[in-house]
Amino acid sequence: MPIDREKATLSLDEPVSRVRLVSPARAAALEKLGVCTLRDLLTHFPRSYIDLSQVETCGTARIGEVCTIRGTVHEIKLKKPRYNLKLVEIALVDGTGILVVTCFRQPWLMDQVKAGDAVAVSGKVTFDYGYKRMTNPFIEVIGEGEEVTGSVVPVHPATEKLTAAWVRRIVANGLEAAEGLFDPLPLGLRLRYRLMSRNAALRAIHFPRTMAEADEARRRLVYEELLYLELFLMQEGAARSAGCVPHAHVVDGPRLGAFAASLPFELTGEQQRARDEILAALAAPTVANHMLLGDVGTGKTVVAGHALAAAADSEGQAMLLAPTEVLARQHMEGLGECLEGAGVRVALLTGSTAAAERAAIVEGFASGQVDVLIGTHALLSDDVVPRNLTLAVIDEQQRFGVDQRAKLLAKGQAPDALYLTATPIPRSLALALYGNLTLSYIKHRPHDSARRTTRVLSREQQGDAFEAAREALDRGEQVFVVCPLVGKDAEARDAKAAGRAREADAAGEEYHPAVAIEDDADLAGDDVTAATREAEMLQRTTFADWTVGLLHGGMGAEAKREVMEQFRAGEVQVLVATTVIEVGVDVPNATVMIVQDADRFGLAQLHQLRGRVGRGEKAAEVFLVSASQREESLARLAAMESTDDGFELAAFDLSLRREGDILGNRQHGASGLKLVNIMRDGAVIEAARADAQALLEVDPNLEEPDHVALAREVRLAFAHESAIVGG
Ligand code: ADP
Ligand code: MG
Repeated sequence: MPIDREKATLSLDEPVSRVRLVSPARAAALEKLGVCTLRDLLTHFPRSYIDLSQVETCGTARIGEVCTIRGTVHEIKLKKPRYNLKLVEIALVDGTGILVVTCFRQPWLMDQVKAGDAVAVSGKVTFDYGYKRMTNPFIEVIGEGEEVTGSVVPVHPATEKLTAAWVRRIVANGLEAAEGLFDPLPLGLRLRYRLMSRNAALRAIHFPRTMAEADEARRRLVYEELLYLELFLMQEGAARSAGCVPHAHVVDGPRLGAFAASLPFELTGEQQRARDEILAALAAPTVANHMLLGDVGTGKTVVAGHALAAAADSEGQAMLLAPTEVLARQHMEGLGECLEGAGVRVALLTGSTAAAERAAIVEGFASGQVDVLIGTHALLSDDVVPRNLTLAVIDEQQRFGVDQRAKLLAKGQAPDALYLTATPIPRSLALALYGNLTLSYIKHRPHDSARRTTRVLSREQQGDAFEAAREALDRGEQVFVVCPLVGKDAEARDAKAAGRAREADAAGEEYHPAVAIEDDADLAGDDVTAATREAEMLQRTTFADWTVGLLHGGMGAEAKREVMEQFRAGEVQVLVATTVIEVGVDVPNATVMIVQDADRFGLAQLHQLRGRVGRGEKAAEVFLVSASQREESLARLAAMESTDDGFELAAFDLSLRREGDILGNRQHGASGLKLVNIMRDGAVIEAARADAQALLEVDPNLEEPDHVALAREVRLAFAHESAIVGG
């Protein structure tokens, strides 16, 4: 019977339950993995492969190297070394010796692996306490009678309910159901890059015979993802401005002039250039899409302030969206005050704004009484409707999703957009990933001469940090003490981190657990007691002569505001805080920061944290206290010591450059990119961009017969985003 290619192609969007062996229970388990349709299943790519052709034995495996070992489970035990920590320990034997396998926080392995099972483990071999070991390796039970095609076993992301072995079977059935599907890539492109057909690539990425074949499949699928992304961005950009009259802002008006004149300092050369570039983009009669990139503390806020004033001068309105209440409030107090002094009517709207006040602000914004509205996610609420939004500014844009950005922009008719971010991204990649984006960079802090030094201290040395803190306090300066998260909430966070670790593994990156604290939901789980205890202890002992304040995510907005105000006013000199202070907090008189258990934080986060000091003219000292003996942790902390530059740090830590973060969407896959790694695939991104441009030049709506399948794929890949942009 001939294969019905059209039917196979259309079946991609049918529910996954049509695939053989997918019972309702399994369908539910698959949904947890984000797999709802056959398409989702076929793009549920393996997170790694076990290359059975590279098998070592317990005896021959070399310490420090990554390899696969096949053996029999001699014993499996659940251990609880600490009340909040569970680990599974497996003694694996083969004819040549013993390997001790330790798996943290995967207690369900006790149900999946039994003594006597044949398993393959894949990971880095270490040597400790007399045994060769692997920690958190990939473990695969080689089921009895299970056929392993070729010598490569794919390991798909799995759950407690659905083992990798089951996912493997279901994927194989899914491939069967979709056999013969169309290839949407125009033949010319496939030939030019010698790409496999889509059908072959999907087969080969799930069940490669060799690792080389898997690489070839990946190459084809990465190109495909990127081509869709570029086509989407270009078409979307064109659609956003179509039919709307873009705003040409007045950039030499009185409010802008008054604002600039009122600043207490002179802009640095880089800030001036960024300001000019932004104002030029606003003045142009096109829809501006501008990103201002600068490391923490480089003074992006004041530059953005000019844009807000220009909107007010142009009889337009602007919104400034910030990720946290503390930050929004700070913008209101600093920037807001300067703007008001210049005749701009500014208001603040957050989740804790009282109902009556909120109603008045919403009304004022709708009627045009308010020129600039500063706020948090509260701004996105449907009843916040500006009269004439001409500019949307998003601070810390990496903390917002594509959908939130779209929602804000949809509040106006093709408003200009300005994004502020400290996430480093090379220019060419930013252009490729955002479509028509213009960029400004600020590389240096205003007070670069005032140095900020970072030192890593062991627990025993932490007295040095307190000594330095007391000296600073004696000079009238202020101190941050950052507490780590501990206790059961930390465990929940670690479980989340484990999920991300799997993604990172899939991307071939090293993973650092502590990069995990990212949003307010995470922060809400702070271990409040630990921070409280630390604050009390420090007040009684080390800092008895000063006033110690406490700031953590469990506090109400009002209490947070109060302590921040006291700290800003100098009534509180030592602020003990959880990572609530991570983003944006600006107290130039704070010159010392002590971070406890620094190894528990990610580099990105540590860098954000230390950005809270050294913001004034005085030199600043950062102390990273860690009791860790782990080589990897210490190497990461040493990187903090050796460079103060976020961009350099990012080169060291690839995890800072996850493509999801850069697209402003943390949900992996929601951005339509599942395989792309922007570090590795830079050249492909550029090629896809050029190809997309060429395609749209000859066929702007992708209507030619050769392009219809392509257009459909682009729509489907980004259905989520375009639905929001359109709505
Ligand atoms: P970020 O880029 O991290 O958002 P901010 O905009 O918060 O940085 O600025 C950091 C600090 O530097 C603030 O205290 C701000 O007032 C100050 N600042 C900004 N520009 C200058 C300047 N040109 N001269 C002196 N201080 C400045
Ligand atoms: Mg900022």
